[in-house]
Amino acid sequence: MSQREQSDESASIYDMWTRRHYLVATVGVAALSGCGGTGDGTETTEPPTDTDTEPPTDTEPPTETANGDEDRPAGVSEEEFVNGPVPDVYLSATSLANEQRDPENLNAQADVAFSDYEAALENEAHQPGRCCANCGDFIPDKNGDEFGACAEVEGYIDGAAWCTIYESLPEPAVPEGMDEADLATADVPEEYRTADSQVGVTRDPDELLSQEDVQVMESVDAIADEVARPGQSCGNCSQYIPDKNGDGWGACAKVEGYVATEDWCAIWEQVSAQL
Ligand code: SF4
Ligand code: SF4
Repeated sequence: MSQREQSDESASIYDMWTRRHYLVATVGVAALSGCGGTGDGTETTEPPTDTDTEPPTDTEPPTETANGDEDRPAGVSEEEFVNGPVPDVYLSATSLANEQRDPENLNAQADVAFSDYEAALENEAHQPGRCCANCGDFIPDKNGDEFGACAEVEGYIDGAAWCTIYESLPEPAVPEGMDEADLATADVPEEYRTADSQVGVTRDPDELLSQEDVQVMESVDAIADEVARPGQSCGNCSQYIPDKNGDGWGACAKVEGYVATEDWCAIWEQVSAQL
């Protein structure tokens, strides 16, 4: 898809999106061509294209599993990849919705029809746009191998996969005293102003992009409408600053306003890139 086509498609989807009543995007992704460099030398993810969907390869031969046509991390057997154990850092980690993983109480991938996104589209229980990256049970990558884990399912989990016990992330309530329409441009609470993202990118409140310019929207909608690729959400973006005050909202090191774990924008960058 050309950048121009991407921009037009994104704008029409933006028209339909009303959760926070943003203005219709008139700038679009094309105007963001300067946003790939975010001022700190980090490389950000360009909007989805048809040509950059392949994950980096390593020396292991490609192995097709329910995670998709992905390479396993180096040194991980197929048995381990599917059934675990996952690396120690995930064993009892907490998920995007703060569910703690219990390694003694997990579902086998086969028992929950775990599959890649393409296969999930054929499952009548699947709803468009839903994938592990916007599931409350997902534990994003913690060791840079591009796979995460799940609080409910065994083995290595790709953000673009899906299973039948998918759980939507709870949508945070509008904070008291605020108007929903203001969330996109509101000053974030003090604890977020110069906070570090989940991989240590420091937020500079004077160097932020507007949510309108980067087309912040819910990741389920963005993926369903093919604006974003499966596996992309703020929850597994390197710029995301998770909730610090218990109101369910987070913030972003590069984008102004309130941001939720299940959101997405055009400068999404896989958290693995900076681990
Ligand atoms: S959809 Fe959710 S519950 Fe299922 S494997 Fe993915 S993260 Fe786990
Ligand atoms: S955290 Fe969300 S809003 Fe911020 S850059 Fe990443 S995808 Fe965009």
